[in-house]
Amino acid sequence: MGEKVSPFEPKIWLSSPTMHGPELEYMKKAYETNWMSTVGENINEAERLVCEKIGCRYAVALSSGTAALHMAVKLAGVKTGERVFCSDLTFDATVNPVVYEGGVPVFIDTEYDTWNMDPIALTKAFEIYPEVKVVVIAHLYGTPGKMDELKKVCRQHGAVIIEDAAESFGAAYKGVQTGKFGVYSCISFNGNKIITGSSGGMLLTDNEDAANKVRKWSTQARENAPWYQHEELGYNYRMSNVIAGVVRGQLPYLKEHIAQKKRIYKRYEEGLKGLPVVMNPYDKENSEPNYWLSCLLIEPEAMCKQIRGEQEAIYIRENKKSCPTEILEQLSKYNIEGRPIWKPMHMQPIYRMNGFVTREGNGRAKTNAYVEGGAVGKDGRALDVGMDIFQRGLCLPSDNKMTAKQQDKVIGVIRSCFE
Ligand SMILES: *Cc1c(COP(=O)(O)O)cnc(C)c1O
Repeated sequence: MGEKVSPFEPKIWLSSPTMHGPELEYMKKAYETNWMSTVGENINEAERLVCEKIGCRYAVALSSGTAALHMAVKLAGVKTGERVFCSDLTFDATVNPVVYEGGVPVFIDTEYDTWNMDPIALTKAFEIYPEVKVVVIAHLYGTPGKMDELKKVCRQHGAVIIEDAAESFGAAYKGVQTGKFGVYSCISFNGNKIITGSSGGMLLTDNEDAANKVRKWSTQARENAPWYQHEELGYNYRMSNVIAGVVRGQLPYLKEHIAQKKRIYKRYEEGLKGLPVVMNPYDKENSEPNYWLSCLLIEPEAMCKQIRGEQEAIYIRENKKSCPTEILEQLSKYNIEGRPIWKPMHMQPIYRMNGFVTREGNGRAKTNAYVEGGAVGKDGRALDVGMDIFQRGLCLPSDNKMTAKQQDKVIGVIRSCFE
């Protein structure tokens, strides 16, 4: 610490695309055969390979994971004004598609064991809103949620699961791939995901009728007529055959990418030993994450004072203590990219009027105190699990191409923050 860093130091990325060569071949083939549109062999093959991997019957390649989620919300039949339960600690792409369809997200608090939707809070939510028929569940950072428990609660209330496996492609829960748990599931091939097409996503389902609907809706909902005949609202959501070439070329490397990400996670676990931190947890008995992002959570006693407003954060430096703001600030000095944990949806200004349910019930009753006290209540403690993880956690660089030496540097910077 203390030494001056060259601005030319190579950047250590959070999670950047890792290409292998076949991607370019398949793109070139699309070009040479002039299948430069939203039809072609790359699309068919990418869909086939994903079905094979996940074990689902149908995969429809789309322009993004968000488009896939939008189609899933439409398939689930969400109507204007209808409440939909959603994961709270996630990227906003999980929940925005509910709003595209006029639905009203109600956020369900998080559990500490996997940082995903809490089945107990979900049970509570059905007590408050028994009419809800759709639940959107994300697997955060590549770690499967408590699917048995969540499925059981949904079954009891006749609710359909939309599974957001955008971050968890290749992760398994009790031997079943994520992307297989929803009636409608989604994966993403965005640039920072474990397998990328530079962009893209897929809608996954076992329901043939649903898959056919998405194929139709995503290509402007043309009816089978000699002219452009339309009976339904359409979208331009289909994946390009060029992008599909990248996806097709990447897919055989999923296993390798997971192994690299796992090695990174384990090295952090080892390298951070002795510090008052824990890694993002997973159910070691029942699940195998894809380790997309390694994260850490600082023990409450080791947190220095940190206050986050709507746009900026401040902290007070303390011996033997640190906070995400300090660590991220130090990392960036060394041209290392880290990131705060996803800011929970119930804390987002755009969703401040939406319902939020914790294990205790209506989470909003308490949350309003947060306006006065930063991200903590009057007694200095976080008011709900999502807020607590956001306050104390951060995402570490988890790039496949990061060398052991580079990772040692990251670990060194983190260690120095606790001196
Ligand atoms: C990336 C992501 C999405 C959206 O995928 P895009 O392909 O970027 O549209 C949705 N949900 C989660 C949890 C994600 O991380």
